[in-house]
Amino acid sequence: MSSDDLRELYQEVILDHYKRPRNRGKVSPATAVSEGYNPLCGDRVDVSVRLEGDIVADIAFEGVGCAISTASASLMTELVKGKSIDEFHRLFQEFRTVVTQPEAALPDDLGDLAALAGVREHPVRIKCATLAWHTLNAAIAGDKAPVQTE
Ligand code: ZN
Repeated sequence: MSSDDLRELYQEVILDHYKRPRNRGKVSPATAVSEGYNPLCGDRVDVSVRLEGDIVADIAFEGVGCAISTASASLMTELVKGKSIDEFHRLFQEFRTVVTQPEAALPDDLGDLAALAGVREHPVRIKCATLAWHTLNAAIAGDKAPVQTE
């Protein structure tokens, strides 16, 4: 596949999740919630989650944001649902590496989140891409203060 084809495919994944976000709403009952805000772009992502033991049994998000932040939140909820907290932390680390390091390889276990790798060429967009992840991270940690990307 040429890099132009790949870019087009990635664009389609992002638009699809932006227009039809998965796991949108609130988990009920939730065991943890957190609010995220990215003042640079105006993105809001509120995450609610139900943990059963150390498993993310259910997760949903609400909020209004740009295509990147919404697609990232939607893809993240699909990826982490049913996974353990340790697995989430590992995936978060991988994702952060992919969107911040221009030379980073794309790990298979990130699935369609690879579509967001292009933000590494647009540093101002990195906070859009990682907002939902930081917010879920805070929810899992039991951090009640709203998450704000600096
Ligand atoms: Zn944004």
